[in-house]
Amino acid sequence: MSKLEIIDLHVGIEGKEILKGVNLEMSTGEIHAIMGPNGTGKSTLSETIMGNPKYEVLQGQIKLDGQNILEMPVDERARAGLFLAMQYPAEIQGVTNAEFMRAAINARRPEDDQISVMAFLKKLDKQMAFLDMTEEMAERYLNEGFSGGEKKRNEILQLMMIEPKFAILDEIDSGLDIDALQVVSKGVNEMRGADFGSLIITHYQRLLDYIVPDYVHVMMGGKIVTTGDASLAQRLEDEGYAGLRDELGLDL
Ligand code: ADP
Ligand code: MG
Ligand code: MG
Repeated sequence: MSKLEIIDLHVGIEGKEILKGVNLEMSTGEIHAIMGPNGTGKSTLSETIMGNPKYEVLQGQIKLDGQNILEMPVDERARAGLFLAMQYPAEIQGVTNAEFMRAAINARRPEDDQISVMAFLKKLDKQMAFLDMTEEMAERYLNEGFSGGEKKRNEILQLMMIEPKFAILDEIDSGLDIDALQVVSKGVNEMRGADFGSLIITHYQRLLDYIVPDYVHVMMGGKIVTTGDASLAQRLEDEGYAGLRDELGLDL
């Protein structure tokens, strides 16, 4: 079992404090959702976990299996087993999708146990079929000319190929039609198991009908203000963030 701990995390962007003391602990085998209004710091949290240098950690710690990861650059965090699907995935010129995934898989394996081309292609075929993706998607340059839906589907393909310990999915549902949403959810649900944990960030409850989380956290004003089970997401849908804010007596 692996554990990801976020302890009293304060993060600033361009001198402005955005996260104001986030505490969150998750283990593999668990799916956690973070919901919250726009501009509350959800993407700031995911970018900070992954190590985007634009976000300045002012205070607090992030630990993976007891080890502080804040000093690690992005690629080292990925090798340690973290995976981030971004709200707006970048395009990488000159690297095909398949090359990227094979390199990412091998980066997590010892030198003398690299995945063979045959084993890689077999796994790739299987996962692409599972996600209803056409074979040519693997040979295209990463995210170049991918539609919004293709990018999201591709993030899930990468997830299934790389098999991280923890995946952070930041608004993986934004702009998806219902078919794409179902495919994305199917992929995440397929990954569920003792060796995998996920932090699913979403503005809307709809995604959580398909990927039912074990825990739901609500973030407002740069803090987690309440935590519950999947029913909390439904309550938010019914009452809205304003209703919850009043109920908790928050002045945010
Ligand atoms: P969410 O994902 O919950 O919508 P974000 O983490 O994206 O929230 O943003 C939190 C706050 O940080 C917002 O007030 C936003 O304007 C600000 N912010 C986010 N990214 C930047 C940036 N690159 N530069 C300056 N401010 C930013
Ligand atoms: Mg946003
Ligand atoms: Mg965001």
